[in-house]
Amino acid sequence: MYDFIIIGGGVTGALIARTLSRYQVKVCLLEKESDIGNHATLANSAIIHAGFDPEPGTLKARLGVRGNAMYETLHKELHVPLLRTGAYVVARHEDDVAILNALYERALKNGVEGAKLLSGEQARKLEPALHRNSVKVLDLPSTKVTYPWEVALSALENAVSNGVEYRLEAEVVGIVRTDKVYAVTLANGHALKSKAIINAAGAFADKVAGMIETHVPYKITPRRGEYLVLDKSVRGFVERVLYPVPTEKGKGVLVVPQVHGNILLGPTSEFQDSPSAVTNHQADLSMIRQAASTLAEAIPFDKVIRTFAGVRATSSAKDFYIRQSLEHRGFYHVAGIDSPGLTAAPAIAEYVVETLIKQDYDLESNPDFNPYGMQYPHFHEASLAKKRQMIAENPAFGNIVCKCERVTEAEVLMHIHRPCGGHSVKAIKKRARAGSGLCQGGYCEGTVVKLLARELKQPLETIDYYRKDTPILMAETKVKR
Ligand SMILES: Cc1cc2nc3c(=O)[nH]c(=O)nc-3n(C[C@H](O)[C@H](O)[C@H](O)COP(=O)(O)OP(=O)(O)OC[C@H]3O[C@@H](n4cnc5c(N)ncnc54)[C@H](O)[C@@H]3O)c2cc1C
Repeated sequence: MYDFIIIGGGVTGALIARTLSRYQVKVCLLEKESDIGNHATLANSAIIHAGFDPEPGTLKARLGVRGNAMYETLHKELHVPLLRTGAYVVARHEDDVAILNALYERALKNGVEGAKLLSGEQARKLEPALHRNSVKVLDLPSTKVTYPWEVALSALENAVSNGVEYRLEAEVVGIVRTDKVYAVTLANGHALKSKAIINAAGAFADKVAGMIETHVPYKITPRRGEYLVLDKSVRGFVERVLYPVPTEKGKGVLVVPQVHGNILLGPTSEFQDSPSAVTNHQADLSMIRQAASTLAEAIPFDKVIRTFAGVRATSSAKDFYIRQSLEHRGFYHVAGIDSPGLTAAPAIAEYVVETLIKQDYDLESNPDFNPYGMQYPHFHEASLAKKRQMIAENPAFGNIVCKCERVTEAEVLMHIHRPCGGHSVKAIKKRARAGSGLCQGGYCEGTVVKLLARELKQPLETIDYYRKDTPILMAETKVKR
């Protein structure tokens, strides 16, 4: 019997798991995919927003601003990458100026640090690629950029080192409450029991809630966002995140420097039926080019190396819906976590545990809680002397697997075998960055498949690309005689 079952292994569920591991409670996180963070947490703009646009007084405003500040602690404790870029919200014509002024007032009300207004000319001196039509700019120095997926992974790994259990390929398909105990049924037929449930299932949260609630108090409408990714050779094209003034459809198409040097252009904002459809559409990608070109001059579109899409969990509740069920004590909804959900995630976890759960349960501190996560070396970032030492200690550091990102065999092996290790090609791409560069895995995927097969002691054709049953190799085409 668990004290808490968390449904969903995105950044929200992972950080809630870590926060609960500060206490003496038995926790299990359930994730339906074969890796954590495969949904919204994988495909977003990666921005730790300053908090300039949510309505004052909403959870989005409060937890967004608090979450932004908490990332500094996550950076120290879990070593999550943090690029302190700052951001400009750009008025591109006189009609935008009144909205920009209102956003400035809202930023002040929300407690955003350091927000100030600049003329277009002042801003262009500091950000030369900014479009020459920019009239006025809201400067938001507390904006940062992270690597979202690594936030979820390092949080879960730290939670696991502090006693949390997790299960992959554990899709919850039924929840029943009898005598104050929840019985959770998984798609594989297994059943688990828990005193309380935390529903952090992202765009699927209303579906999970519908397994137990007679009336689900929100509806999630999936909203797709598409992106273009520029190669990291454009590093420095812009130093700051560039936003247009927001519209009723959201924050608009942005220009976003990434922690590994790439630049993201996007996202779009289109409602769709499916919470898991992440295809790209030519018309949307063309729209991104056109919209981004009104923010920055001479964007190097010849450096586009890939496209992707993510799905926001947009809720009918308009704000984050974070509260205990009115029908079932011990069932907590953490739903409608669309933007700024990545920013707010550490503060959402704090709010769920320290405010909501503590109102109902006595939680005793875990005296052995260790807030510090593992740090994994990046060979290509080391000095020449350090590289020589690493190769002398472990010759697998001398074998480059991914030429674009200069990832070594030693790193791939480390990310297969780490506590929350990756067992598919995409899981290794996420952890080690093998396949994230210019050739997008054309050179290294075969080697990664071979290393996975060797280390997991599995036949080559059983190694999945992404999800369960997505093998790259089907059968041998040539048989050696
Ligand atoms: C295009 C886009 C751009 C964004 N940009 C930003 C940004 O720049 N800054 C920002 O702060 N926020 C941004 N966001 C929002 C942010 O990405 C999300 O708020 C955040 O990732 C939500 O995390 P989550 O853990 O709640 O959801 P998810 O990451 O979707 O995780 C939910 C998990 O639940 C699992 N699950 C679902 N059903 C079940 C089940 N039945 N059983 C077991 N597991 C289940 C899923 O497989 C999934 O892994 C953006 C989102 C999108 C889509």
